[in-house]
Amino acid sequence: MGSSVTTYAPVATLRDRAFEGLSSLIGRNRTKFLFKVYDLARFDLFGRPWGNFGSIDVTYRCNLNCKHCYFMEQGYDSELSEEQWFQRFDKWRKDGFPFYQCSWVGGEPLLRKDLVAKGMKYFKSNVIATNGTIPLPDWPDVNFYVSVDGTAEYYRKMRGKDFYERIKKNADRPDLKVVASMVVAKNNYHCIPDLLEEWSQTAVKGIMFQFYTPIQGHKDDLWPDFELRDRILDDLIRYKRIYGDFIDLPESLFHLMKSDKCKPITANCLYRTQAFCYDPLGRVKRPCMMGPKADCSRCGCVLPFHLHLLESRSLMFREMMIAISRRLKQRHRFSRESRIRQKGQSDRGNDKKADR
Ligand code: SF4
Ligand code: SF4
Repeated sequence: MGSSVTTYAPVATLRDRAFEGLSSLIGRNRTKFLFKVYDLARFDLFGRPWGNFGSIDVTYRCNLNCKHCYFMEQGYDSELSEEQWFQRFDKWRKDGFPFYQCSWVGGEPLLRKDLVAKGMKYFKSNVIATNGTIPLPDWPDVNFYVSVDGTAEYYRKMRGKDFYERIKKNADRPDLKVVASMVVAKNNYHCIPDLLEEWSQTAVKGIMFQFYTPIQGHKDDLWPDFELRDRILDDLIRYKRIYGDFIDLPESLFHLMKSDKCKPITANCLYRTQAFCYDPLGRVKRPCMMGPKADCSRCGCVLPFHLHLLESRSLMFREMMIAISRRLKQRHRFSRESRIRQKGQSDRGNDKKADR
């Protein structure tokens, strides 16, 4: 293959150099936080540039075969090599592609862990949407979304395999940013309260709920219909008031998903017009990562609604406030953990002295 890609590391931009310079003065985490606030303020003032978020189907392969999978309907049977992907990234870089946020999807993206690890360096923020069957790599800066479509019994109905305990163990990582992600369908919505109760005892940061989107070629038996979907949304609003931020979506989003509001939002889907989506062969995928067979009029994905909310300046401000509050909580947690560690070390030292 071509020899133009000698290293899989992006060429540093002015911003990268500023980031490294500031990190050496005030630390990496503080710098990341300041850059995030800067970006949010910039988007608020000038709008989000096209392609500042999107998805890459990094592989066509998967170790599961789920009932509701939109991806397998797309029928891919090959994928770009690492080298081909990096040639593309380097070209996009020259062409001014924003490389802000990327969701690494597929297929199962962790089947190409090495490629994802290197590819993430090009982007400022990364999300991995995984089925959770493969142990999560130690990537503390990444947001992992682990698919958990119900408690054990319901999970089996959706995913066809008995991997529930394995994914629960893999997701239970206090050292990582892990969110469980449930596709709510006609055959699994009953378990939402149990799922919330059970998973709130683990280290995951929260649960995100999306609805099944009908796909041409699938039987329609998973689609809950709008009436049932509205009732489930009412339940989610009630649970949100109990579980707070553990439900990883704002209450206002659930209101927008209701049948009296959702249609103009999905008909004018901002994800369709603003996001990049590339298939396993590096080609543009339309209208979104769910492919051309997805029924936009019954879309249950949270992204069009989330983007609609972000269009509002007040919500953008709220995002900024959430980022600040998370940063403060994280700092508080680290200082408490380091006090506990120091105390443990000093207790062990005293024990040793006493033994002598
Ligand atoms: S784990 Fe994801 S990609 Fe794999 S079959 Fe299931 S839904 Fe599809
Ligand atoms: S399926 Fe949903 S997310 Fe995709 S383009 Fe249609 S409305 Fe947007």
